[in-house]
Amino acid sequence: MSSCCGTETIEITTEQPRIAGKLQTVALVGPPNSGKSTLFNRLTGLRQKVANYPGVTVEQHTGRMKGIGRADLLLVDLPGIYSFDSYSEDARVTVDVLKGEMPGTPKPDAVLLVLDSLHLRRQLMLAAPVLALGLPTLVLLNMSDLMESRGGEVDPLALAQELGTPVAKISAARGVGMDAIAQFLQRKSGEAEALQGATQPQRLELPVMGNARSYRQWATGISSRTRYKAPLSSEWTQRIDSVLLHPVWGPLTFLMVVFAVFQAVFTIGNPLSDAFGNVLYALGDLVGRFLGHGWLQSFLVNGVWRGVASVLVFLPQILLLFLFIGVLEDSGYLARAALIADRFMRTIGLNGKAFIPLLSAYACAVPAIMATRTIENKRDRYATILVAPFMTCSARLPIYMLIIAAFVPNRPVLGDLLGLQATALLGLYVLGFLAAVVTARLLKSSILKASSTPFILELPQYRMPTLRSLAMRLYDRGKMFTQKAGTIILSVTVVLWVLANVPFHTTLADSLIGRLGHLIEPAIAPLGFNWKIGIGLISSIVAREVIVGTLGTLYGADPATQALHLQAALRHGMTLGGAMALLVFFAFAMQCTSTLAIVKRETNSWRWPALQFAYMSVLAYLGALATNQIILHFLR
Ligand code: GDP
Repeated sequence: MSSCCGTETIEITTEQPRIAGKLQTVALVGPPNSGKSTLFNRLTGLRQKVANYPGVTVEQHTGRMKGIGRADLLLVDLPGIYSFDSYSEDARVTVDVLKGEMPGTPKPDAVLLVLDSLHLRRQLMLAAPVLALGLPTLVLLNMSDLMESRGGEVDPLALAQELGTPVAKISAARGVGMDAIAQFLQRKSGEAEALQGATQPQRLELPVMGNARSYRQWATGISSRTRYKAPLSSEWTQRIDSVLLHPVWGPLTFLMVVFAVFQAVFTIGNPLSDAFGNVLYALGDLVGRFLGHGWLQSFLVNGVWRGVASVLVFLPQILLLFLFIGVLEDSGYLARAALIADRFMRTIGLNGKAFIPLLSAYACAVPAIMATRTIENKRDRYATILVAPFMTCSARLPIYMLIIAAFVPNRPVLGDLLGLQATALLGLYVLGFLAAVVTARLLKSSILKASSTPFILELPQYRMPTLRSLAMRLYDRGKMFTQKAGTIILSVTVVLWVLANVPFHTTLADSLIGRLGHLIEPAIAPLGFNWKIGIGLISSIVAREVIVGTLGTLYGADPATQALHLQAALRHGMTLGGAMALLVFFAFAMQCTSTLAIVKRETNSWRWPALQFAYMSVLAYLGALATNQIILHFLR
C-alpha cells in the first residue's frame, strides 16, 4: 500500500451494524444537486427551498420522517459534497456530523446516500468514504425517471453486491421508491433491537483512503463491472448546448433571456399589481367607512394599512420574477449561464464558484452569503461576501418599481420589444452588478489578494421544470415577503404613525417625525430628497422595502397628499433628479440589518460588516449626489 499515490485497493473491515439501542438519527448525504433537498422534503413532509446549485444547502436541516410514517426518526440533511477531503466548510460539517464529532448533533445511526444516477460514474466516488464509516447505509440512485426516459441503464442488485450494502432506484421528485427507504429503516430498526451490543464483521473492498485517483478508479471499476450505462445526452441537448454555450451566441442568448424576463415583469406584472393595489385600497376604504372619521380610522387606514398595502402591492411582480428565475434554474439553463460567466468571473478576480452565490443574491443576500461557504479560499470567500449585497435583491424591487412607475414614461425603446421602464429597471440591475465588479476588483487587488483555484461545475441535463418545485419556490418567496410586510413593515409603520401624530392636533411638519425630518434635511437636500424621503432612508436601514411603507404612511398622514395614490403623491414633492438619485442610492446602499448580521456571523468579526456598511453608504450618498446634480445642471 502506498500512502500518496497508490492505486491498489486495500481491505477494510467494517463492523456493521454499529447500532447500540434504537435507531434514532438518519443522515442524508450526497453530492450537490443529487436531489437531497427534494428527498428531504418528501421524507419529512416539510417544505424547504429546492435550489439547483451546489452550496445552497449549506445549513444543516433536520426534520422528523413523517412523510413515510416514521415520526420517531430524525432526518439530518447534510451539506452536499463530492468528497471528504475538500477543504470547504461544507465538507467539514458533513464529515464531522457523520463521525459524531459535531457538537450538538447526535451521531447518525444510519445513512441514506443519494447519488444522481445520470452521473453515477463520478458520484460513486463519494460512496467509498461514506461506506468506510461503517454505518448502515442505503444507497439511493436518484433521478430514475430521467434515467429511464433517456435510455440509461443501472443494475441496483449488482451494485449492491459490489458495495456490500443495499441499493435502491428512486425518483425523489416523483416520489417513486420511497417504500424501499421505509423498508430499509424498518429492517435496521429491527436489527438494532435484536443486535444490541453484537457486531457482525463484514469485509469490503475499498480504495486507499484520501486518494482521489484510487477513488476514481474504484468507482469506474464498479461502474463497468455492474454494466452501468449513462444516458447519452440526447441529440437535441447537444444541439441546444452548441448554441447556448457558444462563445458568441451563448452570451448573446443570455442577454436576450434577461431582457425578456425584465420586459415580462412589466408587461404582465404591472396590470396585475395595479389590480391587486386597487383591491387593497378598496379594502382599506371599506374598513375606513365603518370606522368613521376619528383617530382610529386615521391610524388604521391612513397609517397602518396604507403603509403595509403600499409594499404588498408589489407581490405579483416579485412572484413573477421568481417564477421566471425558477423556470431558468430548474430547466438547467442557469448552470450554463454559470459556465459562460466563469471566464468573466476570473477576469474580475473572483472564483468561478462565486457565481452561484452571487446569482442567488439577486433573490436575497442572506442565503447568498451563507452559500459562499463552498468557496474554499478564504480571501475569495470574503470578497464574495462583501460584494454580494450589491446584487439587486428582491427587497429593492418595491422602491424601484414605485419610482420608475411614477417618474419614467413608458415609451418604447426597441420598437415593441423593450419599453423605457423595463430599460430603467434593467439599468439598475446592471448598476448594482457593475458596483460589485469594481468593488471585487478593488478588494482582490488590495486587502484580499489571492491566487485562483479551479472551478468545477457539473452541468445538469436539461429538464422540464416541475410545477411542484415552481409552486414551492413561489410559496416560499411569497411567504417571506408577506411576513416581512406583516412584521417589520407593520411595526415600523405603527411607530411612524405615532411619531407623525404626536403632539396631537399639529401639522405633519410640526410633529416629532416632521421635526426629525427637517433636522436631517440639509444633509440630503443636495441629493434632491425632501424630509419624508430622509425619514424613509433612516427607517429602511432595517430592510429596504420599509421605505415604501414609510412613504405610504407619511404621505397618507399629510392632508395635502392624503387622497392621492402614492405614485401621484411622490410626484407632488420630488423632482426627476431626486427620483433618479433615490434609485441610485438604493442600488448602492447597505440597507439591511439581516445582511449585516449574517456577514458578522460568517466572518466572525464586526470589522467586515462595518467596512461594508461604511463603504456602501458613502458610495450611495456620492452616487445619489452626482445623479441629482448632473440632472439638475445638464438635463433640464
Ligand atoms: P440538492 O442540491 O441535492 O439538494 O438537489 P435538489 O433537491 O435541489 O434537486 C436538484 C434538482 O433536481 C431540482 O431541480 C429538483 O427538482 C430535481 N430533482 C430532484 N430529484 C429528481 C428526480 O428524481 N427526478 C427529476 N426529474 N428531477 C429531480
